[in-house]
Amino acid sequence: MLVFKTSLKLKKFLNSKGVSVGLIPTMGALHTGHLSLVERAFEENDYVVISIYINPTQFNNLSDFKNYPQNQKKDISLLKPFSKKIIVYIPENKEIYPDGIKSNSYDFGSLDQHMEGKFRDNHFNGVATVVEALFKNTTPNKAYFGEKDFQQFKIIKSLVEQKRINTKLILCPIVREKNGLALSSRNKHLNSSQKKLASSIHFTLKKIKRIYDQYDVNELEKIFIDKIEDSKQLKVEYFCIASENDLIPIKNIVNNKNFRVFVAVYVGQTRLIDNIKLY
Ligand code: AMP
Repeated sequence: MLVFKTSLKLKKFLNSKGVSVGLIPTMGALHTGHLSLVERAFEENDYVVISIYINPTQFNNLSDFKNYPQNQKKDISLLKPFSKKIIVYIPENKEIYPDGIKSNSYDFGSLDQHMEGKFRDNHFNGVATVVEALFKNTTPNKAYFGEKDFQQFKIIKSLVEQKRINTKLILCPIVREKNGLALSSRNKHLNSSQKKLASSIHFTLKKIKRIYDQYDVNELEKIFIDKIEDSKQLKVEYFCIASENDLIPIKNIVNNKNFRVFVAVYVGQTRLIDNIKLY
C-alpha cells in the first residue's frame, strides 16, 4: 500500500508504471460499502486509488461538516490487506482548492433541482468541484460510485460529459446491513436502537416497490411517511419518485420508464438517504 498527499508524486508514480487506474472518491470513515467498490475496481484495473477527503464545499451545514466521522488510522488498516497495489490519496485543501476553498458553478439542468439538490443548498456544485479536481489529479481510466448516492452519480455523469473527461464511470450496488439499513459513514452517529429503527427505511421502500402500481404517488408518500414516522425518532425529509433519466419527481407512474424512489430520513439528528428502483 502507498499513501500520497500530493498529486505531483502520485501522477509521477502512476506514469512511471504505465498502468490502468481505478479511482474511488470517498470522505473516509470507511465501511464495507466502500470496500465493495475497492474490490470491484481491482477486478478491472492494475492499480486502485482511493481518495479520502472530507470536502468542505459540499456541506451546507457547518456542524455537519465538523461532526463528519473520521478515523484515518482505521481506514488505512482496513485498506492494507487488499493489495500492494492500493494507493491511498489524502489530499490537503490546497491540492483540491489551489485558489481558495470555493466551489465552481455548474449547470446540471434538472438533475440537481430536486431531492438532495433541493434540500442541500450548493451541495452538488461542491461535489462536482471536488470530483473534477480528483479526476484531474489522478487521471483514472475508471471511477467507481455507489448507487446509494444515485443523484450524485447522475451529476458526475453529466460533469464527465460536459467537460469531456476521459474516465469511465461505474455504478455499484448498495451494500446493506443484514436488517436492510444501507451502510453509511453517518451510521456511526447512530446508537444500536436507532440502527434498528433505521432499518424501517429499506423495509418500507421494499413495501412501496411491492404496491406502487395500486396507488398514486401522493398516496404512496403518505404510506411511507406514516410507516416511518410511526417511530417518534424518525422524520421524513422527502419522498420522491423520479425517472432515472431526468430526476424530476412525478405524480403519476406510467409504464416503461426507469423510476426510482428517493428518500431522506432523519433518525434523531442523523440524516440518512436511500433509494430503490421500481423496475
Ligand atoms: P462517501 O464516503 O459517503 O462520500 O462515499 C464514497 C462512495 O462510496 C460514494 O460513491 C458512495 O455512493 C459509495 N457508498 C457509500 N455507501 C455505500 C454503500 N452502502 N454501498 C455501496 N457504495 C456506497
